[in-house]
Amino acid sequence: MKTIQSNIKKAKEYLDNKDCIAVPTETVYGLAGNAYSNIAIKKIYKLKKRPINNPLIVHYYNIDQLKKDCDLNDNFLKLYKKFSPGPITYVLKLKKNSKISKFVTNNKNTLAVRFPKHYLFRKLLKNLNYPLAAPSANISSGLSSVKVSDVQDEFGIKIKFILNGGKCKIGVESTILNLLEKPSILRYGGLDTSKIEKVLKKKLSIKTNTKQKISPGLFALHYSPGLPLRINVRTPHKHEAFVLIKKRKIKLKSYYYLSKTNNMNEAAKVLYSTLRKIKKDGFKKIAIERIPNRGLGKTINDRLKRASKY
Ligand code: AMP
Ligand code: MG
Repeated sequence: MKTIQSNIKKAKEYLDNKDCIAVPTETVYGLAGNAYSNIAIKKIYKLKKRPINNPLIVHYYNIDQLKKDCDLNDNFLKLYKKFSPGPITYVLKLKKNSKISKFVTNNKNTLAVRFPKHYLFRKLLKNLNYPLAAPSANISSGLSSVKVSDVQDEFGIKIKFILNGGKCKIGVESTILNLLEKPSILRYGGLDTSKIEKVLKKKLSIKTNTKQKISPGLFALHYSPGLPLRINVRTPHKHEAFVLIKKRKIKLKSYYYLSKTNNMNEAAKVLYSTLRKIKKDGFKKIAIERIPNRGLGKTINDRLKRASKY
């Protein structure tokens, strides 16, 4: 308990000082900085080597904090009540008098907001008088980090402080929803979109296409382990690591399993760490079996499709 308090205190000191630090969330680790500070936000882009036209998600403790920065609407209130804190990000209209740094939004008048669930991140947010911009804690276009050693592998000594919150429970990024107009999905993520449709009582349009201008971060190549990767593979080539969705009896050194029982939540949770392990094990190419397109399988397929553009 004492270490938790002192780590939160340390994290706050760095953030108050306009530095960026790594924080645990239920989805993936974030690289967090004061969303009201141009200095802090510029440090995030620099550390991640992120293109400046790819806006950041801002994290809040609760709706009262958010009211200062965004206009709220009915769809947001319905979904917030049901799913926040949790792995869902809402794109809302930014208020004119908001103090959000223009670098967070790339000068746009919309803001992507989330209420993370991890108890340490929440404890931290409660102690701050500003929200935190926090993109995934990895070098741009690579794999997100799901544990402390991943963050260290990504940034080495360049990261000043990591708030250790153990392994991420969900393992893939948040689901992003555009609530400015007719609600639509901008990115598949940790919350199954069918659950969102049930609450809104309508089918959502899908705008995850890379050509769409609405979510500039949806680049063709993304979530890449830095190795060539083939998807929907039945038979792997010689020397390829082969990733399978369900455990089989065959025990080959080149076989990696995402789940014991064909469970998509389990598979999402270990997806990035499996890809990182394959690289560490020395393989130069990856082949992946077809992943069922249901539940979080949709998110896995979205990530793999982008990773396969390497
Ligand atoms: P990351 O922070 O790496 O998880 O990526 C955040 C994602 O949110 C990127 O795909 C951004 O393009 C998207 N995003 C952030 N702000 C906005 C916004 N105002 N409108 C639409 N998409 C956004
Ligand atoms: Mg990212």
